[in-house]
Amino acid sequence: MNHLGFDIEKLKIGSFDFTCCEGCQLQLANKESTLPEFLALLDIRNFREISSERLDDYDIALVEGSITRQDEVERLKAIRAQAKVLVAYGTCACFGGMNAQKNKFPKEECIRTVYGDKQIDTMQESHKISDFVTVDYSIPGCPVNKEEVERIVVSIATRSPIALPKYPVCVECKQRLNTCLFDLGEVCLGPISRAGCDAVCPSGKTVCLGCRGPADGINYDSFVQLVKDKELSTDEMNEKLAFYNGFTEYLNHEG
Ligand code: SF4
Ligand code: SF4
Ligand code: SF4
Repeated sequence: MNHLGFDIEKLKIGSFDFTCCEGCQLQLANKESTLPEFLALLDIRNFREISSERLDDYDIALVEGSITRQDEVERLKAIRAQAKVLVAYGTCACFGGMNAQKNKFPKEECIRTVYGDKQIDTMQESHKISDFVTVDYSIPGCPVNKEEVERIVVSIATRSPIALPKYPVCVECKQRLNTCLFDLGEVCLGPISRAGCDAVCPSGKTVCLGCRGPADGINYDSFVQLVKDKELSTDEMNEKLAFYNGFTEYLNHEG
């Protein structure tokens, strides 16, 4: 029985990391003030950052990280076969993430630059997990927003509708009364990126690089026109669009 007076079946949850920094899983384990109540909803079966249990009878799988090796594909498919609900967790899992920076170069060149002569097993590209398995829900963000994760997990537990904000980061940025970075001569992806992060980057005077991917129904051509009208660089715009791999369908399309 919870404090609202009704029973909620505890979710059997597993959290799994692939190629990534594991910052998203750490976000979930963070913020002690809400952690006990949040964990009270969950039966943690497998979650390296939180528990030493390694059980395979989970219903919900949070999958963090991108896919860059063939053995990861097999492991991901096994997780999908077990989970009733699979959640792509963080920008790496949703889009390939900043790991996809390597997609622009031959993989041999990347390996040589980082590892020298060592033999490294890696694919040519960093993949989002939906390239290999069906994804039920996506929670983008680099890292994810803890409050959003809690809200979505509670929605799964209570079988309530789940939705991400459809509008762009500019809405939250304006609510925070920030000076627009376009007016300071910078290309910011806020007009086309999905909100839900409380415009954390522009509020810190750093441009939005679109870690949450495209907002719904964006007017991409108007965005490109804005960049041109401000006499800013479309090369720089394309570089930013490529940073998290969330805008591949728009890349190098100049309106
Ligand atoms: S999305 Fe960002 S914070 Fe999360 S695992 Fe990937 S690199 Fe780390
Ligand atoms: S700084 Fe970026 S997010 Fe904020 S209003 Fe300007 S374009 Fe939008
Ligand atoms: S402002 Fe942009 S880059 Fe920063 S967290 Fe939000 S969506 Fe991600």
